[in-house]
Amino acid sequence: MRTWLIATALTLCLNSATLAQPPTAEEQTRKADATAQASGFKIRPVDDAWRAALPRNAQAATQAYLDRLPAEVQARSDAYYTGGYWLILWELLFGLAVTAILMSGRRAARLRDWAQRVGRGPVRRDMLFGGAYVLASAVLTLPLAIYSGWWREQAYGMSTQTFLAWLGETALSQAVDMLMMGIVVAGLYAVIRRAGERWWIWGTGGSIAALVVLVAISPVLIQPLFNTYQPVEDGTVKTAVLQMAHANGVPVDNVYTFDASRQTTRISANVSGLLGTAAVRLNDNLLRRTSEAEIRAVMSHELGHYVMNHMAKNIALLTPLIFVGFAVVAWAMKRLLARLAGATGVSRIDDVAGLPMLVAVLSVFFTLATPINHSITRLQEIEADRFGLNLSREPHGFAEAQLRLVEYRKADPGALEEFIFFHHPSTRHRIHDAMRWREAMGTP
Ligand SMILES: [Zn+2]
Repeated sequence: MRTWLIATALTLCLNSATLAQPPTAEEQTRKADATAQASGFKIRPVDDAWRAALPRNAQAATQAYLDRLPAEVQARSDAYYTGGYWLILWELLFGLAVTAILMSGRRAARLRDWAQRVGRGPVRRDMLFGGAYVLASAVLTLPLAIYSGWWREQAYGMSTQTFLAWLGETALSQAVDMLMMGIVVAGLYAVIRRAGERWWIWGTGGSIAALVVLVAISPVLIQPLFNTYQPVEDGTVKTAVLQMAHANGVPVDNVYTFDASRQTTRISANVSGLLGTAAVRLNDNLLRRTSEAEIRAVMSHELGHYVMNHMAKNIALLTPLIFVGFAVVAWAMKRLLARLAGATGVSRIDDVAGLPMLVAVLSVFFTLATPINHSITRLQEIEADRFGLNLSREPHGFAEAQLRLVEYRKADPGALEEFIFFHHPSTRHRIHDAMRWREAMGTP
């Protein structure tokens, strides 16, 4: 189940519209600019002469780029990013606490009885239970969500939202989660009832199918709930991106941007969707605050994800992980149900009231599998970086963009730290790749 939650978080992480009167695009950008400046995130500025005078040696040139980050900026970035490591632990512990609260005193069993009375039929009962479970978890973990989603982002000067606007968006995304979880839970327990002992094999297949559907509908149905997507105005940026897309057979006739500045100062772009809905889009912070060389470098990286079919490959690579995850759940649930039946009032795997326990086991598994998950995405990011350098031929634009990302990503971690906690390669790694390209190709 956590897989769906992860996928939802992935698609929703950039998101979200204020529910109140939306500010104009100009107001938003001005506010985001002001927030970015006030945050104290600074990179020592340079000119083309500085870049041309960089040593040819990739390692030395990489160091020169990293030296442009003031010590206090790096310290702040390190603190922000490593704080995220603790959040992984806290999120797991909060999740386990929620499970303990719901399972003890037969609360989940009573919730199932309520769903049975209202739903009248197994499918509607399980849907209701799934939705109610998401709601209960959201309410119980709200303090942590406020801390990580709003307070911490404010403290580090990256959020451009008022608390109420953030809360409105969080409520909306929880409503989306409730709906999706309802459908997924009804499907999963229908499979458990039919397949018996072997439910986890069919469950793996079902969850992959659900993941495909979720990724495919996300850019069309979910992301537009939170942000406005608009074509980039005609000009050199649009022409350059379309040129690179067409050169690689990407069938697009427009470039889209979205108003991320209403939520954050972060610069980013993404490729989302699957099958017919796949799209490459850049956020307005990237569009308005960076040079054209940087935009070309970033967008060629995103096109790399698209051309190399990373979305589909990612799901394929996750399949064995989900398979093992479900096997572990089947094994652990048998023992947990036998041991705790008296206290929880739940004794059978096909009883939806056991859902919080099932999710807890899956969460522990996926938290322990974090390095595997991260390594899958990190390897794809390295591929896309190299594709992007070959396409845009902008090693400096790429390096400059990477320096900006230090606002929210630790620049220079240790090797083990990068392996465990980094879903993208570190700044040092990525700039080094660009400088190695420059050294080998002999460009300025
Ligand atoms: Zn990427």
